Amino acid sequence: MAEEIQKVAIIGGGIAGLAAAFYLQKICKEMSLPIEIKLIEASHRLGGKMQTFVKDGYTIERGPDSFLARKTSMIRLAKEVGMEDQLVPNSTGKSYVLVNERLHPMPGGSVMGIPTEVGPFIKTGLFSIPGKARAAADFFLPRSPEGKDQALGEFFRRRLGNEVVENLIEPLLSGIYAGDIDQLSLMSTFPQFYEVEQKYRSLILGMKKSAPAHPRKQENQDKKTGVFLTFKTGLQSFAEAIEAKLDPDSVLKGHRVENIVRNDNRYLLQLNNGETFLVDSIIAATPHKITQSMFSSYSLFDPLKTVPSTSVATVALAFPAEAIKQDIDGTGFVVSRNSDYSITACTWTHKKWAHSTPKGKVLLRCYVGRAGDETIVDLSDDQIIKIVLDDLRKTMKIEMEPEFSVVSRWKESMPQYTVGHKQRLEKINEQIKSELPGVYLAGASYGGVGLPDCIDQGESAVQNVLEYLKSK
Ligand SMILES: Cc1cc2nc3c(=O)[nH]c(=O)nc-3n(C[C@H](O)[C@H](O)[C@H](O)COP(=O)(O)OP(=O)(O)OC[C@H]3O[C@@H](n4cnc5c(N)ncnc54)[C@H](O)[C@@H]3O)c2cc1C
Repeated sequence: MAEEIQKVAIIGGGIAGLAAAFYLQKICKEMSLPIEIKLIEASHRLGGKMQTFVKDGYTIERGPDSFLARKTSMIRLAKEVGMEDQLVPNSTGKSYVLVNERLHPMPGGSVMGIPTEVGPFIKTGLFSIPGKARAAADFFLPRSPEGKDQALGEFFRRRLGNEVVENLIEPLLSGIYAGDIDQLSLMSTFPQFYEVEQKYRSLILGMKKSAPAHPRKQENQDKKTGVFLTFKTGLQSFAEAIEAKLDPDSVLKGHRVENIVRNDNRYLLQLNNGETFLVDSIIAATPHKITQSMFSSYSLFDPLKTVPSTSVATVALAFPAEAIKQDIDGTGFVVSRNSDYSITACTWTHKKWAHSTPKGKVLLRCYVGRAGDETIVDLSDDQIIKIVLDDLRKTMKIEMEPEFSVVSRWKESMPQYTVGHKQRLEKINEQIKSELPGVYLAGASYGGVGLPDCIDQGESAVQNVLEYLKSK
């Protein structure tokens, strides 16, 4: 009797779905498992938010530009698809925080904004004397109640005071999620800070003791290379390399999954072109609101409707080097909310990622849009570019218009892990297990937004699928 073939649908071809498809195919081939895979992607390209614009020797990332090297799953996948030799680390240099219209160098020894060295903290112009004295209260304050989730803002304001939070920690941390730190969950975004507090009580002393390498003067300033990696050929080329390893028959692009219903112990997927697929197991690697709408017959997904997502846009501006009359010694800055700026961060990409820019040119990449301040993303390209240039001219002397610019809008792209995120997710996953067995969630909406986090989730969904199919 012929062996029965089990079918798995992976929905969404961003990095989470791509990683899931790659590892599922790999294991199926290695173990000769009779499993048919279908990666279904709504758009006509794979990669999701990884998108690269290549022009005249520039390699411009429209979405993410790099990943944290210490989270190794991305490097591992790069090796699997033969892209290891394209990996390049960032160049390091001074970075700044823009507070009250002035650029302040990041105080030496600060780890994600938390001071670990007294000298640079005392000397920095970022905080007033009362602000510094308030931060020192961290040495005496008690721990948070054990196991309690709380807003990142609440945690840091209590430990270090409002000034250190608003002038340093908020611009650094909220940049990662484009979020409101007074809403974001400590446990789901930076649980390591809670753990340090539980272990050492003082965050400052704890970070000093647990920081892996002694951060001298300025983070990584002494090292030649930084803590991030990217691909010389752009992140999109990574998606293309993964796609090249997938069986062409297993990839369906330009088809949107609209509805999913349980059909005995299988699932019926309905696509926008009327096509249907009957599958045994599903990895839903789509943003959470889309996942909820695909499973709209099942109220267990309803809590996902209320998980906010922030809209942002990236604006890349290319200039001849002579356009910048007064440059800044460094690789970029983040902007505090108390500055009258629309941009939230700016990277001197030509310095941080030399491979991205031809010689004699300058590439600046700015962000606009953050929680509570997203309407700018809906303006026209010309309006956004004007606002960004006006902001940049407050800090640098730019005498020419850009040779070209690339505005990339990312509507509702940054999922906000608000307080209680972990518990909400655990509950949803429990309910899925009993009501929709064989369905698994992966991607930025759930267990981490970084590219390596999304790969981890894709891989772990594959393990769950295999266990489920074995037990079926
Ligand atoms: C501007 C920006 C900058 C960022 N910078 C960084 C960075 O530097 N480093 C970093 O690590 N992370 C960064 N991130 C975060 C990171 O890029 C994302 O978290 C990650 O790419 C999300 O991957 P994903 O696979 O979960 O989702 P996505 O990339 O969103 O992929 C989901 C896919 O699902 C598809 N889809 C949607 N609906 C359907 C449907 N109905 N049927 C089928 N397919 C569907 C979409 O077309 C898409 O391709 C950044 C994010 C943004 C927006």
